[in-house]
Amino acid sequence: MENLDLMQTFSWLAVILLSTSYWFQIWKIHLHKEVRDLSMTYHVLLATGFGILTWTAWAEGSTIFVVKQVATTIPVVIIIGQIIYHKDDHWHDEADPDCLSCGKELELDWDFCAHCGEKKPSEFLTKEGDSKVVSI
Ligand SMILES: [Zn+2]
Repeated sequence: MENLDLMQTFSWLAVILLSTSYWFQIWKIHLHKEVRDLSMTYHVLLATGFGILTWTAWAEGSTIFVVKQVATTIPVVIIIGQIIYHKDDHWHDEADPDCLSCGKELELDWDFCAHCGEKKPSEFLTKEGDSKVVSI
């Protein structure tokens, strides 16, 4: 009986870990707005599989699996929404300076603006730039 309690505790711990893990990905996407490298197919298949298992877990009356499936399906659906919402966005970081010519955001390791070709201001040519130049 004690072993069963221990197993249940570990199972709930695993549910918490699994469902929490997705929120770290959601937070990264929220910060950097970069989704070009994320597979839509992967996330749609994941959400569909999780969704189906939510229904079967419900039919089987398994509380822990219903909670696990709901708690993992929701963040995967949110990631799908982020992929759609940010599909045209580029990598963003608070430390990224803006281009003095066109005003678009420059990535830290760029020497030239990818949007207009302007050379990056010399003070930002190191990778340590942490201040932001808005205009001259
Ligand atoms: Zn530019």
